[in-house]
Amino acid sequence: MNVISQRAGWSRLPLRAAAFVALTCVAILGVSGWREWVARDAVLKGAETEMANVARSLTQHAEDSLDLLDSGVVGVVSRLEMDGADPATIAKLRNLLEARKKAMERVHSLAIIDDQGNWLTSPGTIASTLSDDTFFRHHQLSPKREAYVGRPVKSLVDGEWVVTLSRRFNKPDGSFGGVVLAAIGSKYLSHFYEQFEIGRNSSVTLMYGGGMIIARNPNNEKFVGRSVADTALFRDASLQQPSGAHHFKSPLDGAERVSFFKRSARYPLVLLATVDKDELLAPWRAAAISRMLYVVALVMLIAVIGAVLVRQLQRGQRMAAALIEKEAHFRLLAEGSSDMVTRIGLDERLRYVSPSSNRVVGWRPNQLMGTDALAGIHPEDRPHVQAIVDAMKRGETDEARLTYRNVHRQKTEVWLESTMRVTRKDNGNVDGVVAISRDITEQKKLETRLETLAIEDSLTGLANRRRFDERLKEEWARAYRDRSSLGLLMIDVDHFKSYNDEYGHPAGDACLRVVAKIIAAEMQRVGDLAARYGGEEFAMLLPNTDAAGCARIGERIRSAVHDAGLIHASNPTAPCVTVSVGGAACRPALERTAGTGSLVEAADRALYAAKDAGRDRLMMSGEVMNMLKASGQ
Ligand code: GH3
Ligand code: MG
Ligand code: MG
Repeated sequence: MNVISQRAGWSRLPLRAAAFVALTCVAILGVSGWREWVARDAVLKGAETEMANVARSLTQHAEDSLDLLDSGVVGVVSRLEMDGADPATIAKLRNLLEARKKAMERVHSLAIIDDQGNWLTSPGTIASTLSDDTFFRHHQLSPKREAYVGRPVKSLVDGEWVVTLSRRFNKPDGSFGGVVLAAIGSKYLSHFYEQFEIGRNSSVTLMYGGGMIIARNPNNEKFVGRSVADTALFRDASLQQPSGAHHFKSPLDGAERVSFFKRSARYPLVLLATVDKDELLAPWRAAAISRMLYVVALVMLIAVIGAVLVRQLQRGQRMAAALIEKEAHFRLLAEGSSDMVTRIGLDERLRYVSPSSNRVVGWRPNQLMGTDALAGIHPEDRPHVQAIVDAMKRGETDEARLTYRNVHRQKTEVWLESTMRVTRKDNGNVDGVVAISRDITEQKKLETRLETLAIEDSLTGLANRRRFDERLKEEWARAYRDRSSLGLLMIDVDHFKSYNDEYGHPAGDACLRVVAKIIAAEMQRVGDLAARYGGEEFAMLLPNTDAAGCARIGERIRSAVHDAGLIHASNPTAPCVTVSVGGAACRPALERTAGTGSLVEAADRALYAAKDAGRDRLMMSGEVMNMLKASGQ
């Protein structure tokens, strides 16, 4: 992966984090919602199973009840067909029927009806007893002898709704003799259904195959006899199976219901057990709402924490970007600069070295990183640098500029100038030093050269007049302090004008250089100083030297020049170059007329005395005094 795509990935990180948080929230909500939905489904499925059990057992009950009626009816039919329907038989049967009716609670009525529709067992006709005579006409018209279960009819005697089961009996000649009828009261059935506690808003309804309600619990009175033939249960082709679950909106009270229906296989009966969906789901709903509230609270917490984290991530990224930019600027400065930028830790090891180290000290940054920052410093300069670094580490100095010598990998040594600055942590504690170092070797050379120029005579390489004057003052002061003696020699080339005239100026210069060399060779002590005083005149400063010592050295110089044998044909004194030397020594502490001028004057006087005395000789100031005294001047 390259840097650009890495950066792009890095910049999309908050977006990804936000997406992750959102996804987590959605996933938690989704999973919780789905689980609740599954729980709801389980409740509905449980209710369906319960309703199925109720519907099956109550259908069974209805069938058993009709079977029971039928067994009674079958008995009566066979008696009537065997014994005939004469009043005596009827009277006997009436008693039997009354007894049976009493024995069986579920039997509402048992009756024998003749071929004219008259009730033989009790006074009255069908028309005056029951609201409907469909069953009678069925038997009258059909020769079939099976039991017939008729649609619910209302008893006009006691106003109760009943369902009838009837069979035809024949006269001995095979013609229609009448009908034996048994009925179950709707009230009995609805009472029976009351035993099933299937919820406040649930119901059990037994319907006739055509859709008329036979019995219902609760509110039997209100619903019995009503037709629900136009509902889905009777109209939808998909619901015309023997049994099944059915969810619907009740046409009776408008409530959503979960139900199970069962059609009897043997009788035209449909049993529907229903439960109110709202009521059924109420406990689940309450629990689900409280659970979902917790989940929503959790999701909100995650969302809030996620938002805070994403925000922080964004801020961190912005800060990191700013830092990278800052660092890039810094690098540009540090690495583009010809100066070497280094960062030194508190352990004095190099933590950062800019690329120009290669140019400044000859090592690459990776070779220096981690090494002792002061290792390359010249042993003479190191204590000074160490002291400054120590002071910075202690927090005593914040900034320092120092020059020192440092080893260079290829060259032997370079002069470095470093500007050091303390770096601090946020709490103000010093955590290192940044040093910007540049090579000042060339500058240093120039300085030395200038210094030399300032104090050196260019022709002879001896000290110049300025240097001589400075040193004379210094040595005078020192001799004054030490109460020591200070000697001075003034040396002048004899007849040098004619040398120039004879051999030319450049030869004159060469001659002066040779003389200077001879004089310089006589500087034996550290403090001795040979200088070109001016023209062809030299001076030699001899600290801690008395007149005798002074004379000894002066004489050595004079003889050395003479012995050098530089040819000087026009020199009247000798055929070679000679010098005259004037010397003087004094103890500045004892001089009353204290001053450097007096010493120079004395030496100068001695020089001129030497010239006067014939040149190529030494004359001491003391001798001059004696000569003056002798000549009475
Ligand atoms: P004496 O000292 O013996 O009395 O005679 P002199 O000829 O040396 O004395 P004078 O002071 O008259 O002459 C000094 C000469 O030294 C004059 C000048 O041409 C020469 N001179 C001074 N400085 C230089 C120099 O730097 N180079 C050369 N070639 N000659 C110099
Ligand atoms: Mg001279
Ligand atoms: Mg001179």
